[in-house]
Amino acid sequence: MAQGLRLVLFGPPGAGKGTQAQLLRDRLKITHISSGDLFRHHLGQGTPLGLRAKEYMNRGELVPDEVTIDIILDKVMSIPDDDGFILDGFPRNPNQAQELEKVLAAESRNLDKVVHIDISEPELARRIGSRYICRACQSPHTVGEGEDANAKRCDQCGGELYQREDDAPAALKKRIQVYNEETMPVLGFYRERGVLVEISGENTVDEVNKQIMAVLNACTHSEKT
Ligand SMILES: [Zn+2]
Repeated sequence: MAQGLRLVLFGPPGAGKGTQAQLLRDRLKITHISSGDLFRHHLGQGTPLGLRAKEYMNRGELVPDEVTIDIILDKVMSIPDDDGFILDGFPRNPNQAQELEKVLAAESRNLDKVVHIDISEPELARRIGSRYICRACQSPHTVGEGEDANAKRCDQCGGELYQREDDAPAALKKRIQVYNEETMPVLGFYRERGVLVEISGENTVDEVNKQIMAVLNACTHSEKT
């Protein structure tokens, strides 16, 4: 049986990583490891790892790298050797990338490709700035330029639309700054290892997916059907 691909999907907030990860999971039959989903799982279930993370959060502190690394690597190592996976939202800094490499190397595994979905800052600001959520049913909405979010209502339930605090212009600027300073250096790490591929994220979801698949098909492994 062909071995599953081991991938990292990399890119700034708003580049469409989550959407692409789900498409790749379905097409390649590999496990999607979303750091956000994993955190929510551990916190929600109150697992030992979740409780460790919560201690810091309760004190209003950032969850330290070592806890994040344990949460993700615990999942990565639970995946059978021949099965592939796609990491989304991890690694976020060079230290995390090194720890991931260490545990994979210990089992003679390595990453096949790190896919960087690149997108310009103005385009990111435009996309995230137009992202609104229904206060009542939580369904996502897009409010285009020139449209008034206060006048628009949820098309599912008629509820009021609001923007997540994280997505407001000042917070977004900070997120992009943190990404550029802490996360971008991870690209250099993977470029040196020869596994980095660059894809433009400024196309439609389908087009971006097609480009990623073309790169992956060029890998030695074949797509499972
Ligand atoms: Zn609604």
